[in-house]
Amino acid sequence: MFDHLTNPVLIETRAAMRRYIEEELRPLEAELGLGSEDPWPREVLQGVWRRSSELGLYASCLPTQLGGKGLNIAEQCALKADLAASGCSLAPHVLGDLGGPPRVGNMLKYATPEQIARYFGPVIRGERSTCFAMTEPHSGSDAMSISTTAVADGDELVIDGTKHYISGAPFADFAIVMCVTTPGSAGTPPSISAVLVDLDLPGVTVSTEYTPMSGQHIDADIRFEQVRVPRANILGGEGNGFKLGMSRINVNRLLHCPTMLGLAMSVYRSSLDYARTRRQFGGPIARFQAIQHMLADMAATLWACESMIAQTAALADTGADLRMRAAACKLFVSERCFEVADKAVQIHGNVGVTRGHPVEQAFRKLRMFRIFTGTSEIQRNTIARAILDTGEEAPAARARDAAAS
Ligand SMILES: Cc1cc2nc3c(=O)[nH]c(=O)nc-3n(C[C@H](O)[C@H](O)[C@H](O)COP(=O)(O)OP(=O)(O)OC[C@H]3O[C@@H](n4cnc5c(N)ncnc54)[C@H](O)[C@@H]3O)c2cc1C
Repeated sequence: MFDHLTNPVLIETRAAMRRYIEEELRPLEAELGLGSEDPWPREVLQGVWRRSSELGLYASCLPTQLGGKGLNIAEQCALKADLAASGCSLAPHVLGDLGGPPRVGNMLKYATPEQIARYFGPVIRGERSTCFAMTEPHSGSDAMSISTTAVADGDELVIDGTKHYISGAPFADFAIVMCVTTPGSAGTPPSISAVLVDLDLPGVTVSTEYTPMSGQHIDADIRFEQVRVPRANILGGEGNGFKLGMSRINVNRLLHCPTMLGLAMSVYRSSLDYARTRRQFGGPIARFQAIQHMLADMAATLWACESMIAQTAALADTGADLRMRAAACKLFVSERCFEVADKAVQIHGNVGVTRGHPVEQAFRKLRMFRIFTGTSEIQRNTIARAILDTGEEAPAARARDAAAS
């Protein structure tokens, strides 16, 4: 996947990540007997963040002056696809997707020197972990309807509210919490700010009472009751929280795509092997045209997904407005990769529906991508708005027009 990318730094980083997975993480998983559906002890995760950081993997998405490798978005896609395709249980921790630099993403550039020293520097070094908390029990797709408040009291803010289904919260040290700092009134939306909140403060409760269908123990609710933080903990200026969240979301939508692609690629490879080795009616099932057609559809779909991700990432690296393309990419890749997983289950027969088999696990993981970072319906709304309101066209139409002129 993404073999067209030839930056020597990327090639070296891909090799280093492969070695890390094979020589350190797989043996660690085997030694501890833990898989992706087990709760991992915090100290083990911390060890993975630190080691990934030492190897230059954890912050590879950041510019070199911030301790990263300066990989562009296309190159990050290549790394993420490799990682997901590895099937390694600790994969979400290697590049910091859950609580490391990618979780902060674009928002890092709004941090003050004090916020970098106290919060984001330790995240980059793999010493502390963070999470991004927007969703609430009564506020999902309609993110502007959040009701968590941060009320000013002198030099402090007092926070009250509950955040729901927050990735990385079970092991995060602090959260980037979206709070209403000035309530809306008729015709005026509320003013929303992003506030950095340590999760060991009095009044904070992190509870993990549910498990998503992936079986992973990586999401939790965070409750804030009269939690006091300095006003200086507002990230990017008061009232700019929603803008900050949105500035992060387009790239985030795109960066979920290589993870889905990697997962789908792993079940496709498993299906190829299985079709060649599983024998029924006197020979391998790969000789049945029905199986061949499923494999052909999977191969064609994966190529389409990889091409779309590569093109969207290349566009992102030019700094172009990504809103419509990132939504289209996330919509297409999440729905098509889930179809690939569905075919993989079919090819594997009873093996594919057996709890804990890698194909069955990937099927459940891939289903979830159609919900978070904006549901498929929200992506369609974004695309439709771009097409109808701003007249933005599909990339193919633009290329055709450019060629014709
Ligand atoms: C595994 C997982 C991890 C998550 N991690 C985080 C996290 O780290 N931080 C965070 O803040 N949140 C997180 N979330 C929350 C996630 O962003 C929300 O689940 C998502 O935005 C959808 O909100 P909802 O689940 O409340 O669904 P709802 O918004 O209630 O939607 C329910 C249904 O109605 C549809 N719908 C809603 N509005 C419209 C509309 N305008 N047009 C058409 N259809 C519509 C939806 O598409 C969906 O089908 C996570 C969720 C999951 C499952």
